[in-house]
Amino acid sequence: MNGKIIKGIAGFYYVHTGNAGVYECKAKGIFRNQKIKPHVGDDVEFTVVDETTKKANIISILPRKNCLIRPAVANVDQALVVFATTKPTPNLNLLDKLLVSMLRQQVECIICFNKQDIATSEQKEELEAIYGKSGIKLIPLSTVDNTGVEEVRNILKGKTTVLAGPSGVGKSSLVNLINPDSNMETGGLSEKIDRGKHTTRHSELFLIDEDSFICDTPGFTSLYLDDMSEQELKDYYPEFYEYEGYCKFNGCVHINEPKCAVKDAVEEGAINKDRYENYMKIYEELKQNKKF
Ligand code: ZN
Repeated sequence: MNGKIIKGIAGFYYVHTGNAGVYECKAKGIFRNQKIKPHVGDDVEFTVVDETTKKANIISILPRKNCLIRPAVANVDQALVVFATTKPTPNLNLLDKLLVSMLRQQVECIICFNKQDIATSEQKEELEAIYGKSGIKLIPLSTVDNTGVEEVRNILKGKTTVLAGPSGVGKSSLVNLINPDSNMETGGLSEKIDRGKHTTRHSELFLIDEDSFICDTPGFTSLYLDDMSEQELKDYYPEFYEYEGYCKFNGCVHINEPKCAVKDAVEEGAINKDRYENYMKIYEELKQNKKF
């Protein structure tokens, strides 16, 4: 039989199979045969050991589309990065780092700004101005008046999506709106973990419908910026792509170089100034980190 690993605890893997339900599987011999450890998100082949107790053995891991390092999930199609438009004020430095981290792992991103219902038009317009030209899809959202919920529902359909963002922005409310049976506690899992520093966090997939899955992760633990050089950062700003071919210097990082087409685009307003300034900050942070 075939299924998808939705959870792994202490050597047991919980494999979702659709109509046949969830099997508790061991993965004896997998590492020996395939030299890889099963991950949440893996599509696997297994044999049933006992149908009444739903025990089974995984016999092979099917080829992976990708495998994220943070969060550790295989076969991820996209990341939904959720922040509040206000209350709390979005930390755009964290938001940009999350985008960089996901794009670095070749995962497409969609940004959702929740709590549109309580935001002022200035707050909404400001975020629209910063990210509207970023090349990353934006969905204004309200889990209170349902703005954007249908759009998110369509985007999740048939995909495995990593849900990233800080606590208190309404991620669980969003998932519960989309599927009330998804068992995600409101103000739940990730928020509890955010508070308990030393708690080990296992990734888990929640079922949205038969072929759509979501993986919830607390914001700070899904940052994958390890060993990243400051020169690499520019590669994860989609709005730079169309200009950087026109920079005078090969390998221009768009900071101090003369005749930089990206900086010109910022001056002309084609690239948002706040996004660019935040780029410079993160660049500097990456540079400083290396000296420790
Ligand atoms: Zn440049």
